[in-house]
Amino acid sequence: MASVELEHVDKTFASGTCAICDLNLRIDDGELMVCVGPSGCGKSTLLRLVAGLEAASRGTLRIGGRVVNRLSPQQRNVAMVFQDYALYPYLTVRGNLEFPLKMRRLPRTRIRQRVDAVAAMLGMTELLDRLPKQLSGGQRQRVAMGRALVREPAVFLLDEPLSNLDAKLRVQVRTEIGELQRRTGATMIYVTHDQVEAMTLGQRVAVLNGGRLQQAAAPRELYERPANTFVAGFIGNPPMNLFPSRVTASADGQAAICLGGQTAPIPAALAAWAGQTLTVGIRPEALGLVADPTADGVPATVMDVEYLGHETLARVKVESPGAGGAVDLVARLAGMRTLARSDAVCLQIDGSRIYLFDADGDAIH
Ligand code: ATP
Repeated sequence: MASVELEHVDKTFASGTCAICDLNLRIDDGELMVCVGPSGCGKSTLLRLVAGLEAASRGTLRIGGRVVNRLSPQQRNVAMVFQDYALYPYLTVRGNLEFPLKMRRLPRTRIRQRVDAVAAMLGMTELLDRLPKQLSGGQRQRVAMGRALVREPAVFLLDEPLSNLDAKLRVQVRTEIGELQRRTGATMIYVTHDQVEAMTLGQRVAVLNGGRLQQAAAPRELYERPANTFVAGFIGNPPMNLFPSRVTASADGQAAICLGGQTAPIPAALAAWAGQTLTVGIRPEALGLVADPTADGVPATVMDVEYLGHETLARVKVESPGAGGAVDLVARLAGMRTLARSDAVCLQIDGSRIYLFDADGDAIH
């Protein structure tokens, strides 16, 4: 297996679209890196650049320490698994697995050994004589993975490989891919638009937007320390609440943010930002809600309630005349709460769990 490095890589298409802009990213040998971002952010282009199906307009690409910019896809020794994992319909599972090895003219006995070993690893030995149409969606996906595995590539590139599967099967095959990666120590770059898939599968997750890397970090760090408002709003479901607010500082050095005509204390170190309008971020689970509107905190009105059994999501509106109108926030509350639309409530904000972002959207706290 091998590491993958991209240094100042750009991909600009003839149409002028900059699909990848000045990308710097290193995927370690044996690492599972998930690339995630909204539609059109450049995820597939990134994989196609590594595979050699597109040429970089600028920058350096290395696989296993070797510059590969001028190498063909075959010379790069990478295997790609797509969402439409087109298997050959008239070949059995064994025929599909053998195909890439026959193309390489490997000896018959070697081909048989490799196919049998991969089929055993994927638990498909009893499926080897079946045709693709006799398999379930999950089994077909496994064959597609197997076809990549038999080639023993330096790097696996997976482009939304689960999007044709139903929700339950997606979770199952996702777990299988994670286990397979740990067992084989394969270097994998896995592309998805689904942030839950990214967070559960990735050892690190690279978040892309508009062709630019926003942050590459372990899932927990992405959630706890988002680099900017894009990552803050993209990772997490429901997403982080983001709204503009002014920072105030009292004579004794205490800092606070303003919301709904009230203030919520924040760490004193942030008093340096007093007088500035910043973007405040609060995760839904960092908001408390009490049914008594006269309690300490920020008065709010319930707009919508979703009962999910183990938790309740409450969308509330805070009238905030000083901050340019009303602010909508979502609170995630444990268990089933008896709340109804139009209820007057009081929001309690834990100042130690507040995030602040500057005018460019970059995290300052
Ligand atoms: P999706 O999740 O919808 O598949 P993506 O994140 O994989 O999207 P890409 O397919 O990499 O995005 O496309 C990135 C940008 O580059 C888009 O604006 C797309 O329209 C543009 N693009 C992709 N391929 C080409 C091409 N061959 N010629 C011109 N523009 C292209």
